[in-house]
Amino acid sequence: MDKQEIIKKLEKNEIKLHKVDQYASNANEATDIRREFIEKQSQTELKNISKYSIDMTETTQKNIENSIGTIQIPVGVTGPLKINGDSFKGETYVPLATTEGALLASVNRGCSVIRKSGGVDVSVISDKMTRSPILKAKSAKDAVKTKKWIENNFNIIKESAESTTNHGKLLEINPIVIVGHYIYPRFTYSTGDSMGMNMVTIATEKALNTIQEEIDIHIIALSGNFCVDKKPSPLNLSLGRGKSVTAEITVPNEIVKKVLKTTTEAIVEVNTAKNLIGSAVAGSLGFNAHYANMVAAMFLATGQDAAHIVEGSIGITTAENNNGDLYFSITLPDLPVATVGGGTRMETAIECLNIIDCKGSNKVKKYAEIVAGIVLAGELSLIGALAAGHLARAHKQLGR
Ligand code: NAP
Repeated sequence: MDKQEIIKKLEKNEIKLHKVDQYASNANEATDIRREFIEKQSQTELKNISKYSIDMTETTQKNIENSIGTIQIPVGVTGPLKINGDSFKGETYVPLATTEGALLASVNRGCSVIRKSGGVDVSVISDKMTRSPILKAKSAKDAVKTKKWIENNFNIIKESAESTTNHGKLLEINPIVIVGHYIYPRFTYSTGDSMGMNMVTIATEKALNTIQEEIDIHIIALSGNFCVDKKPSPLNLSLGRGKSVTAEITVPNEIVKKVLKTTTEAIVEVNTAKNLIGSAVAGSLGFNAHYANMVAAMFLATGQDAAHIVEGSIGITTAENNNGDLYFSITLPDLPVATVGGGTRMETAIECLNIIDCKGSNKVKKYAEIVAGIVLAGELSLIGALAAGHLARAHKQLGR
């Protein structure tokens, strides 16, 4: 069948959109056919969505269904970012993709403050990906017995889960929460350089089969929202999920004045009143000014799962006056990231990961450190700008 014949059959509903791949000669042609069909249906010309360089062959198998092309997001660079991490020490330019004007300029100013202050110190606190199914026992008493069985037979469950993966390791099943006869065990894994959601889902399913061989329980769902995947959560804020990373810096007093054009006192006050008290009043889990901006821009550039930006947005910024110098830290407790698998295999993501030398195995902690450094740069710059405005307003009022 040629292209026009397939489009006619789509129009007559004789072929479903997702079946086009079976009739087209390859995934790129199937993409073109679907797009032409949608152009006709919507009477819209999709001349930009049609322009792309990635090969749809693997993409349509692993990253998207019903493809019609790609969207484009501008990408720029910031830096160099100077980092003193455990996995990376040195300077790197960092690609950020966004449509938010002024974001890169602001992050760049933060990078300049960081360089002038000797670099940002970064540490990966923990590395764990979670999957929490819902199990149902016959009674609450049976649920308690099941919890005990899981706790006493961790090694059997671990062996079963790990039989599905070369890189995934089951670290613990903790906590195991019971509500009536429902059980919510939080399976916690290390997942190497992958973000790991597919990996831990497959491993947990196998582990549950093993538990079911011994115990009479019903699996309500493989994910019970206690993971907590793609939702902001106090549990992830305190226990961590993905990579938990912290970055800190002491900015000399004169750099605060010269580059940020404000004072340490003003930055500390803005941080306390806005990020801590303001967020508390709002009931927000993001005790920060805008982690999501930097996390989103890095995730989009480097092929991370964009829905995880919601998790990357939580975390706490601290600022202290250290004899006039500014101590400033950011903590990202919940950063699901990868340098292998998922969207990191996309051609444009590979290129951006290559800019920071973070593609492939043994790179994910370096990648997490760079995200933390960039988040600190952006956070410091914005809090500095707010503090400078606050200072300018105070001067104006005093001068009147
Ligand atoms: P994946 O691409 O499905 O799996 C990663 C693969 O890379 C594994 O097969 C692993 O093999 C292999 N691998 C090779 N070298 C590795 C290394 N150095 N470290 C770790 N793994 C290595 O990716 P994933 O990270 O598990 O899942 C990411 C995808 O899940 C994203 O596309 C995301 O959108 C999606 N997602 C799924 C769910 C869900 O509930 N299923 C939820 C959210 C997101 P071994 O396993 O044999 O080690």
